[in-house]
Amino acid sequence: MLRSNSSARLGYGNPVDLVASRMDAHRSTARDMVYLAQRLDDSHIERIRQGEVSYVRVLEETRLREAGASAEEIARTRDLDPDSVGRVVQQMRKITRADERRIFEGQYVAFQPSLDGSHVRMNGRLGAFEAEICREALNRRGETLVPAAEDRPDAGQRRALALTTLCQDELDQHPMVSPAAAPGEPPPRGRREPLLMVVANNPVAEASGFEQGAAVLAGGRVGPDTVDLIQCSGRIEAITVAGQDITRHGSTSAIRPGMRRAVLARDGGCTIDGCSSSYRLEVHHILERSRGGDHSSENLTTLCWWHHHVAVHRRGMRIDPQSPPRRRRLLPNRRACGYRPPPPDPHALSLLRALAKINRAPP
Ligand SMILES: [Zn+2]
Ligand SMILES: [Zn+2]
Repeated sequence: MLRSNSSARLGYGNPVDLVASRMDAHRSTARDMVYLAQRLDDSHIERIRQGEVSYVRVLEETRLREAGASAEEIARTRDLDPDSVGRVVQQMRKITRADERRIFEGQYVAFQPSLDGSHVRMNGRLGAFEAEICREALNRRGETLVPAAEDRPDAGQRRALALTTLCQDELDQHPMVSPAAAPGEPPPRGRREPLLMVVANNPVAEASGFEQGAAVLAGGRVGPDTVDLIQCSGRIEAITVAGQDITRHGSTSAIRPGMRRAVLARDGGCTIDGCSSSYRLEVHHILERSRGGDHSSENLTTLCWWHHHVAVHRRGMRIDPQSPPRRRRLLPNRRACGYRPPPPDPHALSLLRALAKINRAPP
């Protein structure tokens, strides 16, 4: 009855769909029933009918037997709850070479921008061994990224940071687009500047100094803080795309490579007081570009990757311009230092409450 050709005759793609619809059962229940129906002999059915054994236990025993469990091993699972038996079955199930090859062929990592493009969800599938390599490497790298005195992000966030720096290091060694030398400057040597092209589809956003954000080539959108970060460590290319037409407005200004080298040499390391990290030293605008800061050496300072990428441009801290050049202090961002928006106008509040009452009143 449950063979696939009979279900196809009845208009169902497979026997599971047939059972699920005829018995109004959940798909997983229907799957169990079809599984058992294809394996049970009459003696089992009789034992269930006599109440000697439950349907669930017959299902468990059948699964264990198929996974290769011996009679003693099956007997030992008698008093376990169904979840534990499920785990025993999983542990016993054979993983063949063919299975492993299939898992390997099917592995992937995907990047999926959210609807508004403000963030990208990564998902993927890896074999257990490959996943362990990635997990362990990201854990180790994440540990080394956080300076001792800093707020520790949790393990998942540390892995995300580790993945970002790993990929950034790779791009610096093998840049996909070579940064062009400014006129009259020798081509940049040593560590390359990351070049991130930003497409501004929206001329309003561009006119506002990217306060409304901008789009990166991969399709995601970034906000003003990231635009500031890109202005520090790379260059922005303003491009307007209208249909097939691409208008390039020439790059907005970038820190000249010579100035960048001079600032790095002048500071000799991260200028935050007490920081000794030299990982990915980057040049930062003390007064951000979006707030009108310029590329002059007085407005530029050297920060390690953590202080630049995490403390300043992600956690919203700012460099105290009054702090001494080699012992810079960080100012907490407005929210962290206890900033609260002013309380709402009490008059407006009572008006809102009155309106809500009118809306609730029956017509
Ligand atoms: Zn910066
Ligand atoms: Zn630092």
